Amino acid sequence: MKDRKVNIETSCVQGGYSPKSGEPRQIPIVQSTTFKYATSEDMGKLFDLEASGYFYSRLQNPTCDTVAARICELEGGSAAMLTSSGQAANFFAVFNIASAGDHVISSSAIYGGSYNLFAVTMKKMGISFTFVSPDSTEEELNAAFRPNTKAVFGETIANPALNVLDIELFARCAHAHGVPLIIDNTFATPINCRPIEWGADIVTHSTTKYMDGHGSAVGGCIVDSGNFDWMAEADKFPGLCTPDDSYHGITYAEKFGKEGAFITKCTAQLMRDFGCTQSPQSAFLLGLGLESLHVRMERHCENALAVARFLKSHENVSWVRYPGLEGDKYFDLAKKYMPKGTCGVISFGVKGGRAAAEKFMKNLKLGAIETHVADARTCCLHPASATHRQMNDEELVAAGVSSDLVRYSCGIENKDDLIADLKQALETV
Ligand SMILES: *Cc1c(COP(=O)(O)O)cnc(C)c1O
Repeated sequence: MKDRKVNIETSCVQGGYSPKSGEPRQIPIVQSTTFKYATSEDMGKLFDLEASGYFYSRLQNPTCDTVAARICELEGGSAAMLTSSGQAANFFAVFNIASAGDHVISSSAIYGGSYNLFAVTMKKMGISFTFVSPDSTEEELNAAFRPNTKAVFGETIANPALNVLDIELFARCAHAHGVPLIIDNTFATPINCRPIEWGADIVTHSTTKYMDGHGSAVGGCIVDSGNFDWMAEADKFPGLCTPDDSYHGITYAEKFGKEGAFITKCTAQLMRDFGCTQSPQSAFLLGLGLESLHVRMERHCENALAVARFLKSHENVSWVRYPGLEGDKYFDLAKKYMPKGTCGVISFGVKGGRAAAEKFMKNLKLGAIETHVADARTCCLHPASATHRQMNDEELVAAGVSSDLVRYSCGIENKDDLIADLKQALETV
């Protein structure tokens, strides 16, 4: 999978699936919970991880694996798996290497659901998190590490704060402390940024967003770069580097190597035990979405840049944050990591604060109010009263979400129509 021989646009359309003569052109939906074997011995080999194959769709399903292979190719990884949601992907990615008593460093500017997962739920599981500014210097980052730190986590482009992470810097600090960097690449997508090329070890996605692209199926994905040498840090990662009693004492990092250990363990243990599996139907829809990802991302970015420029010039808008916009705080980082474009999401403040923002949103005709983002249809959200409402004012500031912030996700409609809609709604406040 590592040596992609074709351009990324071709991988979007054909990656992960090469039907043989007479086989279906489109990825088949294998709508089956179970798989038949000729002998118990054949099946036993699967349970011992001695052979690869399918036996129960809670662990693995051919449709899901085919689509995971396409995303793996897009990200330039060594192995990948689908999950039921982006939440499950981030939970698994961290929990696969951190357990009770361990510590993880995360950028503070992350998706509200991820923040909740880390700061509340995983904390209850005994894993502690230190949240650092996405703009941390090398010194500040290094100071956050503890002897029990197991991973560093961040988002390429933070949802909804839209900070661009200095992936190289975060990777360098993680590696200097012998731990992997996990990057949630949901907003940039591999079309605009491939974090593995900048040093990320594990990449996660909420495929619910641009990858599916049509608001049709919730899903997630985890991609392993195959670059992190677990055995070189064996004392830090006993789950990968010591025998697993639940599989007759195999050691993942030995048996499956750098390229396969992470995803095999994540499937064999976490998928087996938690069952956060994606349905084959959803995986099929995701595969369809991926076929046009490159075309859609280009249009999302084109629309967003035009909208951001319009908003910037409007008297009822107090500020605009779009990393692709000239003069934005993250413009230079965006140019470095995402020269083709960033994403379709813009955040901005409506003059008059919370009440004005709510009135403005109510008057939009094309931009629908949704707890969703990164969709073919334009939508918008007021995070302080929705996705981030569990945070107090201080935490909101740390996450880069002010109470007047409107998140506006440009779809792939005509940009002049979007601007006309914004214009009439802004005139009402
Ligand atoms: C939406 C989102 C998630 C959570 O994904 P779900 O598919 O909704 O579970 C995680 N990370 C980012 C950046 C997101 O935008």
